Amino acid sequence: MTQEKALVLFSGGQDSATCLAWALDRFAQVETIGFDYGQRHKIELDVRDSFRADLLAARPEWRAKLGTDHLIRLDALGQVSDTALTSEATIAFNTDGLPNTFVPGRNIIFLSFAATIAYRRGIKHIVGGMCETDYSGYPDCRDDTIKALQVALNLGMDRRFVLETPLMWLDKAATWRLAESLGGAPLVAALLEHTHSCYLGDRSQRHAWGYGCGTCPACDLRAKGWAAYSAVEIP
Ligand code: ZN
Repeated sequence: MTQEKALVLFSGGQDSATCLAWALDRFAQVETIGFDYGQRHKIELDVRDSFRADLLAARPEWRAKLGTDHLIRLDALGQVSDTALTSEATIAFNTDGLPNTFVPGRNIIFLSFAATIAYRRGIKHIVGGMCETDYSGYPDCRDDTIKALQVALNLGMDRRFVLETPLMWLDKAATWRLAESLGGAPLVAALLEHTHSCYLGDRSQRHAWGYGCGTCPACDLRAKGWAAYSAVEIP
């Protein structure tokens, strides 16, 4: 167990919530950061508090470690990007194969702001749920992007930040198994009930894998991951 501190990019989605549990298992102090950038599924921000509460109910010994939550407004990102995640446009695939939910520069901007806060707070580890295994092809989720940004941030701020991406090489079923290993059935239940993935912000329908419209790319990924995990868990 390290005595070092971590800052977790915590959007309210399944991946970042799993990263929060991962960080609490490893670091002495953990803070969280979320961004309000005019996302269509702003409801993901609303579930963050209830997830944090359920997480601590699942692992009460983490209570002393879990510190400040930083909610940062980045309205400008929504204003300058023209995507289906920051407008009411229909979700579709662009000619380059990327879904039009891709917000260019989003993770680079998020990690840069996170580093600015980590600099001020004396935090070394910045944790994000980026993954290039089961993902939508967003180039800023790729391992090389994150590694390059770590170098740029360390040079530009003269610090030794470590950008941690524990889910980078896990598929969605493995991410569920990681959560189970960290907090057992109570953590899995908290992830199902209090995290949000659906791009449309739909929480009117409860499926076995959680809430969502059931058809958008984020719901599709989440449903497939849960099905693969459940197939392993339930003979
Ligand atoms: Zn959906």
